[in-house]
Parts: sequence; C-alpha cells; structure tokens
Amino acid sequence: RSLTKYSVPQEAQIKLNQNESPYDLPAELKREILSNLESWDWNRYPPDEQDVLQRRLAEYTHFTPEGLLPGCGSNELIQVLVEGLCSPGERIAVVTPGFSVYARIAAVRELIVNKIPLREDFSFDVERIAAQAATDRVVFLASPNNPTGTSLSPGDVQRLAESLSGILVIDEAYFEFSQQTAQDLLLCFDRLFILRTFSKAWGLAGLRLGYLIGDPANIAQLRKVKLPFSMGIFPLLAGTALLKRPQLVQEAVQTIKSERERVFRALSLLSGIDPIPSSANFILFRTRILDGEQLFQALLDRGILLRRFESLRLADHLRVTIGKSHENDAFLDVLKSVLMEAGQ
Ligand code: PMP
Repeated sequence: RSLTKYSVPQEAQIKLNQNESPYDLPAELKREILSNLESWDWNRYPPDEQDVLQRRLAEYTHFTPEGLLPGCGSNELIQVLVEGLCSPGERIAVVTPGFSVYARIAAVRELIVNKIPLREDFSFDVERIAAQAATDRVVFLASPNNPTGTSLSPGDVQRLAESLSGILVIDEAYFEFSQQTAQDLLLCFDRLFILRTFSKAWGLAGLRLGYLIGDPANIAQLRKVKLPFSMGIFPLLAGTALLKRPQLVQEAVQTIKSERERVFRALSLLSGIDPIPSSANFILFRTRILDGEQLFQALLDRGILLRRFESLRLADHLRVTIGKSHENDAFLDVLKSVLMEAGQ
C-alpha cells in the first residue's frame, strides 16, 4: 500500500521521456518476423528460450550459453534476482539518483533499501559504495546510470567486486551507447551479474526482452526462480531475428551518439541550462530559470514530452531522450523559445 503506481505519460507529439530507441524495426524485418510468428502453433506453449534465443545471444556476447538467462525485459530479471537471492529483512544497496525499479521490487519483498548518493556532479563515489554497501546482500548499479548518464569504469567495477561481500549486479541497459562493459570480470567474480536489455539500442521496448549474464552455476539456480514460460513466442522470435542483424543496431547507435553530442553542445550554449555529460541515449540537465516542473509543463504544452523527477535533488532537472534529428531540433527550438519567454 505504501508503493505508488508506476506510471509514465505516453502520449505526446514528440516523445522523449522513456529512453526508447527512436527507430522502429524496418518494415521488411517486421514482416519476416510476423510471417515466422504466423507459422508457429499459438495453441502450444512457447519453446524453451534456451533452445532458440540463447545460442544467438551466446554468439553475440561471446559468452557461454549456460551463463545467459533471457527474460521479459530486464525488469523481470531484476525481479528474479531479488526473489532468488534475498530474504525479507535483508538489505540491498542502490544509488540515488538511480533507476527506481530495484527499490520498488525490493519493497514488495520487504527488503531494506540502502540508498547511497552519487557525488555532487552525479559521478559514482566508488569508495563510499564499497564502504556503505560492504555487507549488503545485493548491490544494484546501472552503468551508464539512469537518469544521470554517468558510468562506472571496469576498474571501478573490479574495485567493488573485490570489496563487497554480497552480490554485485551491473545493469548495462545502455551499454551499446557507452561501449563499456564489466563482462570480462565475470570470469574472475562469480558473485557478479550483468543485466542487458533489448529495450534501448535494439529498439524492442514494446516486446519485452532482456538477459542476465553470470556464472553458469549461479544462472542455473536463478533459472529455477523465473516463472516457466514467462516469455511468449513473439519476443523470442523477434530477438532471434534481430540478433542476426547486429549492424542495424550499430548504425542506430552511431546516429544516436552523434545526435547526443549535438544536443549536448546545443544545451551547453543555452544560458540557464546545464547538461550533464552522458554516455547513454539521454541527457540529464539542470534548469536554472524555471524549475523542473514549470519547464516540463511548458515543453509539454508545446508537444514535447520529457522526463521529470519527484526527488528533491532533481527538482530542477529534466531528462531528455535522444530522438531522431528532427525531434531533437524541435525540442531545442521549443526549449529556446520557452527560456526566452521566461527570461523576459
Ligand atoms: N535498467 C535500467 C537502468 C533502465 O533504465 C531500464 C529502463 N528504463 C531498465 C533496466 C528496464 O528495461 P526493460 O525494458 O528491459 O525492462
């Protein structure tokens, strides 16, 4: 009862609020997936993900298939980790500002959530995390972090993996944009897990697909926690088809990254706006002329939907997802005119 409903506005002319890819799959690839879907028996339970998707994921990640667990978005896998690893009353650690779903799932499991603040500039305070989360059961860190876009280096992850006595989960939802991964460390630390998703760079947010990478013996245990047949055939087939065309994703990532740099430069030139350098597909920025809520509303009134935050620390911040070039232009134009009106 103490939880609030997770709800995000969805309707807007220009939607830049959920860190989705602005690029849908090409029409011919959609048709290919749909005709494959049509040939399956919908009256039968879906095939084991291990048989279809996991082999392709293993090729893509260069990781052993036994160390991979696909799920319905990384959200389902966060739930699997919490359900499988934590008992009520135990403590997990997260950073603030950070992705809210870890604490939400932990609350349902009646866990204690240790919230460790990022530094003033939103960088990770690795020593502080190492000290304050030393004995916590699971430490969830997103790198790049949502909503700040700041990252942990592989060296930071190694430092944490060496010092924490619990389990360390590095959520690499935005890894395709940062190109930094802690994956090599999996061979040395069996208490380390990496989470990935198809909802961002891969452009499949609507289908729900993610995967967990970890020590094969631990993944074998977590596989038992996930509900049987939780994933339907649609995300299975679409993920498998898309994994055969990684160049589609690479091209989208290149475009989004160069747009991110363009938007960042443009925001830096606006007086009253301070963007935070990001290695993901979004930019968090501080607004000094209007507060976050006022600017959010003013942009929304003109058809641009961004993400606002309830926490006090982010009351004067908004997050913009990098869209297509014309969407980013529209956002920047509207922002400039709103700021100009407010400054008069
Ligand atoms: N982790 C992070 C850091 C995210 O930002 C998000 C999406 N907002 C997710 C996980 C959830 O992704 P999915 O769609 O795979 O459940």
